[in-house]
Amino acid sequence: MTPVFDVVLIGGGLVGSSLAIALNHSGLSVALVEAAAPRASDGPREDERNLALARASTTALQTLGVWSHLAASATPIERIHVSRTGEFGALRLDARQEGLDAFGAVVPARALGVALAQELEQCTRIRRYTPAELLDLRPGSDSTQISLRTPDGDTLIAARLLVGADGTASRVRALSGIGVDEIDYGQTLFVCSVYPQRPLTGLAYERFSDTGPVALLPLAERRAGLVLSVATPDAADVAALDDEAFLAYAQQRFGWRAGRLSRPGRRSAHAIRRVVAHSLVAPRCVLIGNAAQTIHPIGAQGFNLGLRDALTLAQSLIAQQRAGGDPGAAALLQAYAHARREDRDGTLAFSDGLVRLACSPAPLLKPLRSLGLLLLDGLPGLGSLVARRGMGFRGRPTAYALGVRP
Ligand SMILES: Cc1cc2nc3c(=O)[nH]c(=O)nc-3n(C[C@H](O)[C@H](O)[C@H](O)COP(=O)(O)OP(=O)(O)OC[C@H]3O[C@@H](n4cnc5c(N)ncnc54)[C@H](O)[C@@H]3O)c2cc1C
Repeated sequence: MTPVFDVVLIGGGLVGSSLAIALNHSGLSVALVEAAAPRASDGPREDERNLALARASTTALQTLGVWSHLAASATPIERIHVSRTGEFGALRLDARQEGLDAFGAVVPARALGVALAQELEQCTRIRRYTPAELLDLRPGSDSTQISLRTPDGDTLIAARLLVGADGTASRVRALSGIGVDEIDYGQTLFVCSVYPQRPLTGLAYERFSDTGPVALLPLAERRAGLVLSVATPDAADVAALDDEAFLAYAQQRFGWRAGRLSRPGRRSAHAIRRVVAHSLVAPRCVLIGNAAQTIHPIGAQGFNLGLRDALTLAQSLIAQQRAGGDPGAAALLQAYAHARREDRDGTLAFSDGLVRLACSPAPLLKPLRSLGLLLLDGLPGLGSLVARRGMGFRGRPTAYALGVRP
């Protein structure tokens, strides 16, 4: 007989794993399907991303029990400095002026993946299909039939609610007939750790230029996470640079605010596209995380937004379960899509607007930008608003972000 689950999650990446952990004690029967085999070591080797987590996300990860596995790898962001090459003005934000110890924290993406995997190990109520790949879907009125490919052969399961957390190229999205809007930004981001001569001690830099943003994020052991965007046609040349030449290029792009940059770590490269689903829901199906929207990393919003998707959905599903309702009910899915609209639209507009404004060479924008940075720097109210949004408190926060399990 085909096993029928209340919820089947396709994709056990950062966002799908977070949702699975949130649902462990929900009373719902939950299956998590992940195509990649579990790794004994520390996650994908080629991924050197460091994620800036908003304060709402670090609190939510504490609530989920994930933070205890991650705290040792996290570095608090106490101050933020935003500037643009060749223009006057800079925006400076200080957590203490907001009455906080930190805006959030930087964590290596790999360490977050490991911490989620460790917590997931303890979630014994979640049925894991790993490695298993979604092949096909057959929607029905009460449930959706899901065919999976596993190393032991193809198998069939069914879900009252199917959750697509399967990333930018989501198969759930395609099989559910949900279209996307796509923008190729023509940028490739190079990511690696470096050793700045002047320790950042809680200071995160974001520096814009016509060729795209460069960021330097504080990391443990006096290191810093460098994020360097390059026009995609030049990416192969930059990838071919040896460490010394790459450092010289990074130094020229970032400047000397942190002194000389040295001792670069392994480099990874990420082509940047914006992929936005036309709808978050289809019958008995919902999309979350990068499957729902993949955005430019410039504002450090992608995982933060995806986590808010996951936790808003967890809250709705737990309330529905307590009321004895159907987890795939059309009314629940519509209410979920409605609840996510403001945060999603606002974050998409923020990150896209930031790319266009901050990286555009248009000369007319130059004085406006410089003025904008000075104004934001001078007016505490405006700076606070930007900081609050950056901390992930856009729209109504989930219970998890306030430190409470629903
Ligand atoms: C350079 C860079 C820097 C970034 N910096 C930040 C930052 O500072 N702050 C921030 O918040 N965000 C940041 N992001 C964005 C963040 O990394 C993503 O938003 C986040 O990782 C998305 O997670 P996800 O789980 O939705 O998708 P993914 O991580 O893509 O996970 C999808 C999962 O689904 C699985 N899967 C796919 N297809 C199938 C299938 N058919 N069957 C079964 N499983 C399947 C995959 O194996 C994968 O594990 C950055 C991104 C980049 C590229």
